[in-house]
Amino acid sequence: MLAMTLRAPGTPLEPLDRPPPTPGPDQVLLHVRACGVCRTDLHVVDGELPDPKLPLVPGHEVVGTVAAKGERAGRFAVGDRVGVPWLGWTCGVCRYCRSGRENLCDRPAFTGYTLDGGYAEYVAADHRYCFPIPDGYSDAEAAPLLCAGLIGYRSLVMAGDARRLGIYGFGAAAHIVAQVAKHQGREVYAFTRPGDAEAQRFARELGAVWAGGSTDRPPVELDAAILFAPVGALVPAALAAVAKGGVVVCGGIHMSDIPAFPYRLLWGERVVRSVANLTRRDGEEFLALAPKVPVRTEVHTLPLTEANEALRRLRAGEVQGAEVLIPG
Ligand SMILES: [Zn+2]
Ligand SMILES: [Zn+2]
Repeated sequence: MLAMTLRAPGTPLEPLDRPPPTPGPDQVLLHVRACGVCRTDLHVVDGELPDPKLPLVPGHEVVGTVAAKGERAGRFAVGDRVGVPWLGWTCGVCRYCRSGRENLCDRPAFTGYTLDGGYAEYVAADHRYCFPIPDGYSDAEAAPLLCAGLIGYRSLVMAGDARRLGIYGFGAAAHIVAQVAKHQGREVYAFTRPGDAEAQRFARELGAVWAGGSTDRPPVELDAAILFAPVGALVPAALAAVAKGGVVVCGGIHMSDIPAFPYRLLWGERVVRSVANLTRRDGEEFLALAPKVPVRTEVHTLPLTEANEALRRLRAGEVQGAEVLIPG
């Protein structure tokens, strides 16, 4: 099977022909139908996240059909359509796992980072961490739900009941979260790269009541802000835009350094927090909610062999919505 493989961080992915993995007792072997391209893949490929498995097949927004399964993988039948998210395995015994916070597990494994992921024709995944894919979404449309959607949803939950919600960085996650937020009766204020009129138009189309550049001040005080752009300088900018008691949620796994800022920006019980990974419960909640909104994903498909081009476009900010790789 073809797998786009990272040999060393900072180098392009290489197309390699290798045998499909053999599923372990708890694993399903999926024939990959679509795999979304996430900003985290860029952080892995560029070497901004430490100690990836090497060589590595990236990709953690995988939609596939079950081709084979291990003896204990009873949750799915051969032929079922299944999604594989970022959270690939947890220990089940650490204090985080035992308190409903498996996203913070001390010994986790992550798809497309410490486990091989979906930039391939086949992937093996632990069935306990996979999700059934809701009907009504094509394979490509469903792929971005599995990270942009899931972790975006967790970020939105962390924003509490904020009515006026700022979203910094209007990419794959934001385009999903904006729809959910609007459905919940919130007002979305979208912040894009300064001067990116196209992204601002896209945000308004998805229901944002205001869209501007990340250096602009919104017309009203925000109750909360979610940062999807990996730009540390946006943390003080967002703090300056939120009202007293407001929360700034950093939704990405990696961010450039946050510059020093005056304490008065944090004063007034403002909060800065990060969101790490996902729990299986987040996945179940979000995948049940998405068809009700209904969340529509804007996807741009490329052949699997074009993975490097997909990453280049994402790095260059040329993508509206989400990119999805299609094998075969
Ligand atoms: Zn654990
Ligand atoms: Zn992701």
